Formats: sequence, C-alpha cells, structure tokens
Amino acid sequence: RRVPLIAGNWKMNLDHLQAIAFVQKLAWTLKDANHDFSAVEVAVFPPFTDLRSVQTLVAADKLPLAFGGQDVSEHESGAFTGEISAAFLEALESRYVIVGHSERRTLHAETDEQVAGKVAAAIAHNIAPIICVGETAEDLETHGASAVPVAQLRAALSRVDSAADFVVAYEPVWAIGSGQAATPEQAEQVAAALRAVIAEVLGDDVAGKTRILYGGSVKSGNIAGFMREPNVDGALVGGASLDVNEFAAIVRYQK
Ligand code: 13P
Repeated sequence: RRVPLIAGNWKMNLDHLQAIAFVQKLAWTLKDANHDFSAVEVAVFPPFTDLRSVQTLVAADKLPLAFGGQDVSEHESGAFTGEISAAFLEALESRYVIVGHSERRTLHAETDEQVAGKVAAAIAHNIAPIICVGETAEDLETHGASAVPVAQLRAALSRVDSAADFVVAYEPVWAIGSGQAATPEQAEQVAAALRAVIAEVLGDDVAGKTRILYGGSVKSGNIAGFMREPNVDGALVGGASLDVNEFAAIVRYQK
C-alpha cells in the first residue's frame, strides 16, 4: 500500500546542462525497460541552479519523474542572503524537498529546531519534506542505533499535523559515502522505531501511510535486501544516483 520511492540526492554534482542530459537519459532508460512509475516512484534532487531546467524538461516531455531541492529555508522571504524559500520551490513544481541531511547538520550546523522550521515551511507550500535522520558512529557506540534518529524525528515533527504529507529517510552517518551500508536488519530495526514515533506523535493512520527510506551506500547490488524489509519503503541514494544505468538498476530492484 505504500508506493516505494527511489530518490537520487545529487549533492553538489552535475550542472544544469549535465542535469538535462541525465534526466533525459534516465527517463528513456526507464521507459525502455517498461518501468511502472506508479509501482515505484522515482525522484531526483539536483542543485538549485539545475531545478528550472529540470522542471522545464519534465513538463515539456511529460516525464513521470519527481524532483525537488536538497534544502529549503525555514523563512518565508526577506533578508536571508543565499537562501531558497519553499515558495520558490513550489513555483518550480517541486514535489519533495530534502530537509536535515546530515551534511547540512554537520557542515552547516543545522539544529533540530531549524530542521523543524524547514519541515513546516515545506508543508505550508505543499511540498513533502524528506526528513533525514541518522546517528554517527560515535552515537551508535554510546546510544545504540535508534536513540539519535528517534530524537531527531520527534523534534522534526514538532510542528507537523496529521494532514501533512512527508517522508522520512534513515541515513546512518557512518554509512554515507563510506561504501559500508547498514545491513537490511539494522535498517529495518531503526525504520520500525521511527514508524513507532510517527504513530505516537501523529497516529496509526499517518504511521501506516508514511514512507521510510534507507540511505547510505545504497547500490544496485544491495538495494533488493533493503526493499525486502517491511518497514523500508525505498532509498535515498547519493553516489550511485550519479550514474544513469546504476540508478536505473536501483529503481528496477525487483528485476
Ligand atoms: P551515498 O549513497 O553516497 O552513501 O550517500 C547517501 C546520502 O547521503 C543520500 O542523501
């Protein structure tokens, strides 16, 4: 009943010309393979400077691909040099936006409070935030796997009501870009704990319909194992989303 979502976070890779070539090739590759986009949803998250180009291409060719930004401001508008508002992303027809990625939390010192503000801003503009949570290797050793992600999610949901559409991505920091993915069992254990938090805060209906993704060194060779877990509803893919054939193979994990 939850439609799986395979999402590619490009991070700071591919300019707007490369983005157009990539999205065209991805759409052709998946259509060629008769991919059923209603069975497994596909989304890409290019840098901000690419979004207008991607939106124009998707609209012109009616491509069944979703896209969105990698971050959003918690503010509506005003004197916030360098920031991008949820209104701007809404005007570009972004279905999703990544919020609270560990690289933002670490390299840009984003707090749980800011993440909650960004989640609220996205929802107010009809964009589903992909709320990223995850523990560091040190957290894992001192608190176990679930404690930090559970606390991060609780904080991120503090301004969300049960009518809101959102996605959660469990990305253990130690698994990001390391080549050392979590095991499917580890991902399932934390995903189940995160679903319990959603149930507690927003009720069983919301918990039952909300998608929880796994992220961290996902590749075509390990995706199927994650997708077999009952609480894992997709993946947030970094490095492996930059190669069209590899990303398409992840999308087509059932084949
Ligand atoms: P990698 O897939 O490169 O490990 O990155 C995961 C990630 O951070 C996606 O947001």
